[in-house]
Amino acid sequence: MGLTHQVIKTFSREEKKRGSGLVLPVLFFLLVLLGWGCQSEVSPPRSVILISLDTLRADHLGAYGYARPTSPNLDALADTGVVFEMALAQASSTLPSHRSLFRSRVPSRTEGPEPTLAEVVSEAGLTTAAFTGGGNVSAAFGFDRGFETYVDDPRGFAESFDEIEIWIRTHAQDRFMLFLHTYDIHLPYDPPAPYRDQFGAEYRGQINGRMTLDALRRERGFKGYRDQRSEANLSDADRAKVVDLYDGGILYTDTFIERLLLLLRELSLSDETAIVVFSDHGEEFWEHGSVLHSHTLYQELIHVPLIFSFPGHWGAGERIATPVQLLDIAPTVLDLLRIPIPKTFEGRSLLGLIRGDQAEPRGIASEIRNLSSRVEYPWKLIEEQQGKTTTRELFNLETDPLEKRDVLKERRDVGERMSAGLGGKNQSGDPAFVPSVDFEGVEPSLRQQLEALGYVEEERPTSSAAGSR
Ligand SMILES: [Zn+2]
Repeated sequence: MGLTHQVIKTFSREEKKRGSGLVLPVLFFLLVLLGWGCQSEVSPPRSVILISLDTLRADHLGAYGYARPTSPNLDALADTGVVFEMALAQASSTLPSHRSLFRSRVPSRTEGPEPTLAEVVSEAGLTTAAFTGGGNVSAAFGFDRGFETYVDDPRGFAESFDEIEIWIRTHAQDRFMLFLHTYDIHLPYDPPAPYRDQFGAEYRGQINGRMTLDALRRERGFKGYRDQRSEANLSDADRAKVVDLYDGGILYTDTFIERLLLLLRELSLSDETAIVVFSDHGEEFWEHGSVLHSHTLYQELIHVPLIFSFPGHWGAGERIATPVQLLDIAPTVLDLLRIPIPKTFEGRSLLGLIRGDQAEPRGIASEIRNLSSRVEYPWKLIEEQQGKTTTRELFNLETDPLEKRDVLKERRDVGERMSAGLGGKNQSGDPAFVPSVDFEGVEPSLRQQLEALGYVEEERPTSSAAGSR
């Protein structure tokens, strides 16, 4: 771009001097060049598929360095695409994270009428459809805005994939945006055979199938969300089996990625369909003393996979270390499709980074309930509001990626500067700003789905805490 502008300027000066008859054709040629240069080098995909693998930690995938073979097909997809090594979720629970992603706004600013990605894409003429696991991404919570088809099926990909396949076959000639979402990795960590015994097959103990849900509920306890410590004291072997089952669920889910990729190949859609794979949040396995998600904003809960695949259009196997966020997905998809990005979107298109441009540094915010965090790599500040009291922790993610050592006392300067960036009435971490679900009004079948996922508890400390498991 810069070079093209330079050429135009030089040319204009020449033109004044000579008034050559060649001016118009050359100008035309340069304008064509300029127009071409303004477009990204990536030609637009015909269609886009967004895949949300709920509760998938980045560091449990081969593409993110996991030693276990949990994800052969996702890894192969990553090898053909671009891997964002440090993608951060805006929240550590399903509903606010997805709402934030589709509106490209931090959770505390998603309660308004601002357009969703699906609405913008649909308005631009693409066919839109979603097949989700329901629960906290149900149409009942407004996630169907902008989708012509929105199917909530809590049974998982094993049951819903046939319907997904029929939809893709039926719409193979359309331009479409398809959103796929599954809880197959999420609690209760109960993948079918042989995946449940893929890892830790020798284990004989209490962690087994639906029992896992009860054991982890007891393990987590309910002493408030910040300082939950283990009550049930599962043995090391039990804990290891919990992770084994979670990993088995990833491997199981990975088989559907293969099925999808084979289908796209069969329908000759592979080269014209961009695929974006991500998760809405991670999962804790005792890194900070507890389990599951939604209770903190530490990396095990907000560092998620983000893979963009568009074979033949990008450098295969590209890896980008610059921190990015889930609310960048919507503007990137629009940029890819050459659809103008609404002003209300707070994220940034990642196409520049994919092309190799330098990104301007920026802070990345996440929120859950009374917690908010900001990453200005390598620094990460976490703030907790308790009434008028604010508690802070500061970590250096470069030297301490597991957030074990709070360095706020040593680096008060950094903490204060970042805290100022975190402040403001719309991003205060006030629970009122972070959407949660009022289960009282939820219809019985949806309530059942949420219970099966471990979301509704018999005992819960406050109503605002109930919704965000
Ligand atoms: Zn989730």
